Amino acid sequence: MGKITGLHCVTCGSVYGSNQVDYTCPSCGPRLGTLEVRYDYDHLRKTLTREAFQDSGQLSMWRYLPLLPIESEEFIQPLRVGWTPLYSFPKLARELKLSALFVKDDGQNPTASYKDRASSIVVIKAQEKGKAVVTCASTGNAASSLAGFAAATPLKTIIFVPKTAPEAKVAQLLVYGARVFLVNGSYDVAYDLAAEAAEAYGWYNRSAAVNPYLVEGKKTGALELAEQMKWQPPDVVFVGVGDGSVISGVCKGFAELQTLGFIDKVPQVIGVQAETSAPIAAAFDAFDGQDVWFEDIEAHTVADSICVGKPRDVVKAVKSVSANGGRFVTVSDKAILSAIIDLARSTGVFGEPAGAAAYAGLLKLVNAGELAGKSAAVLITGNGLKDVASARKVIGKPITVEPSLRALEAHLP
Ligand SMILES: *Cc1c(COP(=O)(O)O)cnc(C)c1O
Ligand SMILES: [Zn+2]
Repeated sequence: MGKITGLHCVTCGSVYGSNQVDYTCPSCGPRLGTLEVRYDYDHLRKTLTREAFQDSGQLSMWRYLPLLPIESEEFIQPLRVGWTPLYSFPKLARELKLSALFVKDDGQNPTASYKDRASSIVVIKAQEKGKAVVTCASTGNAASSLAGFAAATPLKTIIFVPKTAPEAKVAQLLVYGARVFLVNGSYDVAYDLAAEAAEAYGWYNRSAAVNPYLVEGKKTGALELAEQMKWQPPDVVFVGVGDGSVISGVCKGFAELQTLGFIDKVPQVIGVQAETSAPIAAAFDAFDGQDVWFEDIEAHTVADSICVGKPRDVVKAVKSVSANGGRFVTVSDKAILSAIIDLARSTGVFGEPAGAAAYAGLLKLVNAGELAGKSAAVLITGNGLKDVASARKVIGKPITVEPSLRALEAHLP
């Protein structure tokens, strides 16, 4: 028997064997019936120690292999994924009236986003399942990370992105050798096309939420944050939210650590959405503790990675954040753009808009006086170089100068 004890439907609670279904609960369907991977926690509690991670010698998310849905190490790619740096900024924390401030820079992953944590797993699952082709729809990062992790494997990658995807992300795809379709429509439309094509042609689908193994990779950011803080995680953790899978993973990671007795206190996880792309925040506010009600919208925001009007992991996200005791905040595009600059100039970390959105969420609650005296961490989920065009909207221009001191002096104060 493998490590996985079952795949649990987030809506009806049905349990499936990991060889029984590839994607979602057959009775609830793809939107409501996303599945959660569970392990034998009683066994893990008896056999696994905190020290085992360090002792593995892995300076990557593979240090958490006993908590990941991988049956053999054969297909693990050599690319170093995860174990990204966690920086502390005590002076900035004091200015913001926090007791501590940490920034986890996931822009330092192999393809420069948090999505690598999930793609690295899916590429293994695809090979375990004997698939020849992997596909996904993506605002850009999920696709570029899938293409990057599949590049050195026998898998072929077929990608669907909205035609508005940032140039750097599309270039990454082509560099890695993916077949790229720019879909004439939004991410939400591209998602449905990828699902139809995967079904019709037997491709393995990595699109967000539908594939239960993605969240397993996405939980590793929480595992790392806790371990990097010597198992004393902060009071609050901020994360940008689009489809809702990253935040579901972060909540699951902390919950599993508590189940295993590795942490005493679970941080409050705070999801940050762009105010013009916030259907999960709305569903969370309407949640009655039983059924998740949600309404799809026409989303638009400068933060392309979280521009999602039809969030695919809304049920899991709402239930996990509710169980965590967390909440959602929304921020304007203007606040997101200025957070890119504020974060870069006060920490040296350059995040893409969706990454900086998490920092904008923190600043919003700081300004509302809601975080005084608390310790906080911000997950910067994507590198700023992926979307320079957005940063350009809020920065000045360089000065063109003739190569002489006299010419230079004309510009100096
Ligand atoms: C995908 C992504 C997110 C949000 O993840 P979801 O699972 O869609 O909620 C946040 N930031 C970046 C940079 C991303 O690529
Ligand atoms: Zn179900």
